Amino acid sequence: MAKFQKYEQKIRKYKEKLKKLVTRIGISYSEEFDLVDEELKKLILPCHLGVMFYTDFDTNLFKQIKSLLNQVFDSFFFGINNLGQFHFGKALFSKGIKKEHKEMRKINDKISTHPTNKFYQELINIRTKEKLGIIILLTDLPIYSSSDDNIVFMFGETHLKHRCSVVSTLKLKEEFYDRVRDDKLFEQRVLKEIIHEIGHILIGSPHCEENSCVMKFSKAVEQIDNKPYSLCRECNLKLDKIRDKLNF
Ligand SMILES: [Zn+2]
Ligand SMILES: [Zn+2]
Repeated sequence: MAKFQKYEQKIRKYKEKLKKLVTRIGISYSEEFDLVDEELKKLILPCHLGVMFYTDFDTNLFKQIKSLLNQVFDSFFFGINNLGQFHFGKALFSKGIKKEHKEMRKINDKISTHPTNKFYQELINIRTKEKLGIIILLTDLPIYSSSDDNIVFMFGETHLKHRCSVVSTLKLKEEFYDRVRDDKLFEQRVLKEIIHEIGHILIGSPHCEENSCVMKFSKAVEQIDNKPYSLCRECNLKLDKIRDKLNF
């Protein structure tokens, strides 16, 4: 019996370690609120990608997103659709999400940060309804990872299994740091973060160590500014491998 307990302890420790690693790289594998995904199956490529917005963004931004994604992930998308404004539906108040919302308020009543799971369930529903392979939401709400309360105010997060991403623009604004507003810089950061999150869905969770790669992890905006829109050679090879394997 003691032997089993020891094993159990070991496994629990390992699980904690793994969880910490996962949250450090900013990707949620957390299923604590059991996201419901009727269409859950492997991503079929090329696919359709949908972009949604929550709160106002310049209409030109979508055009730029589309053009850059098509450039960086050449031939991966049949189409990139502008899904327009995101509306919180009734699903937001479904059991799990409501509970999370309540708990979140308890923890943090000063800053109204939003758990990524809140968005994921809605995004899964829309992705299924619109028959999309991947869906990404752009919002200016502050977001935190549903897998770890310690991460407040993230730039973005991707749920690999459910093929949906959320990018929060709040921390990408110069005004957030009490600096002069810079629309150009802001746009560049938004585009890089979107490419980065979509990159995770296509080539997986690990971050790239290469400075000249959009898949490098950015903890601060300065790090986003220092990286390009594009993927490095190694990461591009990963895309090539997928194209070769699936023959497109
Ligand atoms: Zn990342
Ligand atoms: Zn790379």
